[in-house]
Amino acid sequence: MEKIVILGSTGSIGCNALEVIKIHKEKYKVFALTANKNVDLLTQQCVDFEPEFVIALNQDANQQLKKNLLALNIKTIVLDDEKSLDWLASHKDTATVISAIVGAAGLMPTMAAANSGKKILLANKETLVMAGELFVKAVKKSNAILIPIDSEHNAILQVLPQSKKMNYKSNGIRKILLTASGGPFRTFSKEELKHVTPKEALKHPNWLMGKKITIDSATMMNKGLEIIEACWLFDIPACDIEVVIHPQSIIHSLVEYIDGSTLAQMGNPDMRTPIAYALSHPERIESGVSGLDLIKTKRLDFEAPDLDKFPCLGLAYKALLMGQSAPTILNAANEVAVDAFLVESITFNQIAELIEYCMSAMKPQPLDSIEIVLEVDSKTRQLALSWINSHNLTS
Ligand code: NAD
Ligand code: MG
Repeated sequence: MEKIVILGSTGSIGCNALEVIKIHKEKYKVFALTANKNVDLLTQQCVDFEPEFVIALNQDANQQLKKNLLALNIKTIVLDDEKSLDWLASHKDTATVISAIVGAAGLMPTMAAANSGKKILLANKETLVMAGELFVKAVKKSNAILIPIDSEHNAILQVLPQSKKMNYKSNGIRKILLTASGGPFRTFSKEELKHVTPKEALKHPNWLMGKKITIDSATMMNKGLEIIEACWLFDIPACDIEVVIHPQSIIHSLVEYIDGSTLAQMGNPDMRTPIAYALSHPERIESGVSGLDLIKTKRLDFEAPDLDKFPCLGLAYKALLMGQSAPTILNAANEVAVDAFLVESITFNQIAELIEYCMSAMKPQPLDSIEIVLEVDSKTRQLALSWINSHNLTS
């Protein structure tokens, strides 16, 4: 039995991962579940999967969780120290960690998994954006195994040469094509984008996901973060990564080889497919997802991204080129901006403005340690919040 820790089990990825695990209870055992504060769901997950450990990071939620499990006579141990996430991610009794916390909160436990040589099924792309070099070094040093869950990167992994995955050099690869749905505002004009609301931005045309990544998809920052993610995962320069808008989200990404072949991975837009492939890689297991109906699908469309309408994509390329702490700054500013947009403190277009401001105001510096990453993250957040206040946008 492969024992699994799920960081962020109540989220969209966490729940999909549990759906796949449920089909394979003879193969996988949930060792620990962690979440922030959705107590009812976390309680139900403990009933269904009987993990050895659980924690809700929010203290009130954790107290309620303890009461719930006691009343239900569930033997799962409820941890209550913030460091528990790192402890669980590096626990000797577990082999596999699903990193599915959203945002910078996922960094430290994912690093802990990397430092202790786990098999890391990575959904938390922010780890690679914030601290790509340190993270990849830690993975190599401990012989950890890194498998992307993000559908595009999982697709790339599926169409890379099977013998030499995760290394594009000397494999005859010319470039990677990352597909993007274009989000809910793909056809909007620049003028229309000025007035879009969080409610509209939260309506993704193809995927049902957490709020943060849904807004990132609407601004196309998600694709920007994914370019950075791909660079670190596949050791490929940004100039060999192309973004292609593909509104149907059927092709999840492609690899072009030097002989002119282009290989694509296709499937219905359902995260259980990449999760199942990550779990069982390089084998394949049932995911619960039906096959593609090509006749119903009818057509696949493609177009070039519009960097003028979606400046966040250009900012991510810029951060990559600037290097050092620039992607860390980009990520932190984006997280603050998305939160502010969701509570209507800033407008949709101000998300990019705020990120650009932070990137120009903060000088990139080398990221020699994870402590420096955290410091840059925290300083950027302060700067971003003061930008919001100085624009008097909260009132
Ligand atoms: P979500 O918001 O649905 O879930 C986030 C999870 O993290 C929840 O379990 C929540 O309780 C937990 N969490 C939130 N804040 C926390 C904190 N401070 N400390 C500890 N736990 C905390 O998010 P999601 O859509 O599942 O995305 C998770 C990650 O996966 C993100 O990095 C996202 O970019 C990536 N991802 C998601 C999808 C998708 O389809 N949802 C696809 C590709 C990649
Ligand atoms: Mg993706």
